[in-house]
Amino acid sequence: MRDLTNEIVELIRRTSSSLPPDVEKRLKESIEKEAPGSAARGALETIMKNIELSRANSTPICQDTGTPIFYVHYPVGWSTIQLRKQIRAALEEATKKSFMRPNAVDAIYDKNTGNNLGGDDFPYIHFEEIEGNDLVIELMLKGGGCENVGRQYSLPDNSLGAGRDLAGVRKAVLDAVQKAQGQGCAPGILGVSIGGDRGSSYIKSKEVLFSEMGTRNKDPKLAELEERLTSEANEMGIGPMGFGGKTTVLDTKITGLSRLPASYFVSVSYMCWAYRRRKMTVKGEQVIYD
Ligand code: SF4
Repeated sequence: MRDLTNEIVELIRRTSSSLPPDVEKRLKESIEKEAPGSAARGALETIMKNIELSRANSTPICQDTGTPIFYVHYPVGWSTIQLRKQIRAALEEATKKSFMRPNAVDAIYDKNTGNNLGGDDFPYIHFEEIEGNDLVIELMLKGGGCENVGRQYSLPDNSLGAGRDLAGVRKAVLDAVQKAQGQGCAPGILGVSIGGDRGSSYIKSKEVLFSEMGTRNKDPKLAELEERLTSEANEMGIGPMGFGGKTTVLDTKITGLSRLPASYFVSVSYMCWAYRRRKMTVKGEQVIYD
């Protein structure tokens, strides 16, 4: 089987140092919405300068290079054992090259492994066998600060007056944004999952963040809620980094799951402005990066 270690190092370098064009475009558009001379505008301008510098110098966009989350879509015939080894070797190499900060800390012994490798859980790697011939590896780097402000709700929630319906989901998501304030490094992107069990609900709320900015759910009810939540979150006045202003949330993505009759979970994964996600596609001998 082909060794893709070097190509995966390059995927990690790009993800860590160069924000995707759709994210950069949305951040640029937000500057114009903020008043000249305001702290909000200043924060967004600083973010934009930071993005340019990181890209030019291949340095991490943020000092926290986050949890590496890999999604591997592989055609029949590839070995997931080999792919896992290659991904782990690439992450170790990317850490040596300072594209990544060593971020894997043993939770029991409080010791940083120094090479970004923990047990099978770090990096997180999800494999999915697919039809066709192309291998696709997606990578998201999810910062710790924004992860800390993610929340899960079990509806009904009487303290919020939130029942088991989309009106209740709306209250839960807005509560998460209100509680996050600027601490998740706003402006953020909301990944929301409705249903599932506690585990699947959180996983899907992150998975939905792999889709492009502005991509709407095919279900018109959920698409409408996505738009509404973004606009209502932006009316809260929290603003970039919590400085006040009109840009608190850049986009909202929702996914609906099946649930048990007994439970109704709503999970909110908050992604910071450093919305680092990239993809590589292996087409025969060619490797294409997006
Ligand atoms: S939340 Fe995001 S922007 Fe803030 S420190 Fe963490 S990775 Fe950096």
